[in-house]
Amino acid sequence: MYDILLQNCHIFGHDESDTLGIRNGMIEYIGNGVEKQAKKKIDLEGRMIVPGFVDSHTHMLSLGLSLTGLELSGAKSKDEALNKVKEYAKKAEKIIVGRGWDESLWKDRTYITREDLDVIEKPVILFRRDGHMATLNIAALRILALESRKDGILKEKELDLLDPLITPSKTVQKKALQEAFKRALQEGVTFVRDIVDANTFEVYKKMKHIPIGVKMLIYDNDANKSICNESSICGVKTFLDGSIGAMTAAVSDWDSSNVLATKDNLSSIAQHAWNMKLPLAVHAIGDKATELAAEVLSEGSHFKNSIEHFELVHDDLLQSMDRHIIASCQPNFLQWSLPGGLYERRLGRYWLENNNPYRKILDSGIHLAFGSDCMPFGPLYGIKLATSSPFQKQRISAEEAITCYTYEGAYLLGMEQIGKLEKGYYADIVILSNTLDRLDNCKVEATLVHGRTLYSSDSFKGLK
Ligand SMILES: [Zn+2]
Repeated sequence: MYDILLQNCHIFGHDESDTLGIRNGMIEYIGNGVEKQAKKKIDLEGRMIVPGFVDSHTHMLSLGLSLTGLELSGAKSKDEALNKVKEYAKKAEKIIVGRGWDESLWKDRTYITREDLDVIEKPVILFRRDGHMATLNIAALRILALESRKDGILKEKELDLLDPLITPSKTVQKKALQEAFKRALQEGVTFVRDIVDANTFEVYKKMKHIPIGVKMLIYDNDANKSICNESSICGVKTFLDGSIGAMTAAVSDWDSSNVLATKDNLSSIAQHAWNMKLPLAVHAIGDKATELAAEVLSEGSHFKNSIEHFELVHDDLLQSMDRHIIASCQPNFLQWSLPGGLYERRLGRYWLENNNPYRKILDSGIHLAFGSDCMPFGPLYGIKLATSSPFQKQRISAEEAITCYTYEGAYLLGMEQIGKLEKGYYADIVILSNTLDRLDNCKVEATLVHGRTLYSSDSFKGLK
């Protein structure tokens, strides 16, 4: 007898079947609607089911803090963002920390600067959406003895100076993580590869219950033996460049100092990870960074090393790259890849059509795992962009995009019983409102983790 029988559904990867049986949290049956014994039968009325999404690149604590704090990613103009900050500043908090502003979506496309924020008396720190830069007002700069900074902008490594000012209490952080997991379930995400520092790792350890699967990448400067021995750690993460939005990516004609490590530096970071039997994940966006990352990672091909973002890649690298290296990409970044968007303005015509070349990556036989980097969080948004891109080099099929967001993520993590709807796999299942040929307004109806329904929409609750 099955615990649950999902009936009358389209099953991802099984065109001929319409029924899936779950017992003890595992998938035990996939086939056709023959009458089966089950404690609960659900008629899905022709809906689609896919494996639980694996988000291969997340920052769950930041996501949670933006859900519970000052979130600016929805602001459609600088004025709107600044008004939100002023409103928020009225509440009694000592330091105002906001996240998510993105000038590339605004008409005048200028960064928020110190001048914009100096009208607020309390210290203000506002992170740009990519997390690679932040603007501070004079009150915040004063705390750091950086009053001379005219624009109030800090980038990359300098942002570490902010840690003592922005790190909330452990209780606030735990609550933020819980909110982030709730959001994950609403978006159909049942497993994440989360990127953490030692502090966040400690918060995780204090969590009593985590409803989804989590494996963590630890930043290289926190990658000591005691943390790296923990089974929840799946790799070490390092940065080789910055971002396109902050102009800190290692792009060929840009500032050569944007490459953050020499080949020798990167090799020794990699060796450190490999000595602890962990793969290395290298953040590399610009073409110079992706090339150096690929060169160094090819030395450790028995590990599942990955290049995070892998956005600006030349054809010859796709041809020559070691096939053991996994491309960990974010299809939601295509939101900046439309004509006239951030990529074209910053990088010109060539990279407009050649950034994030998912079609070419897959055709080259390179493993491609999808994640969101929480910009925004939610696989369906990225899947819709990757399947509807106007550029042939980017556009992939819905089946491919879902595979990159499920099975390929499981492959990257080395997890064998997730990422597919197959007998003997965990019943991590997402029920979608539409079939894949109608992705446009497709929504997550319900999310099952190990056979338990942990999220359901109102329309799903109505099903018998
Ligand atoms: Zn990231």
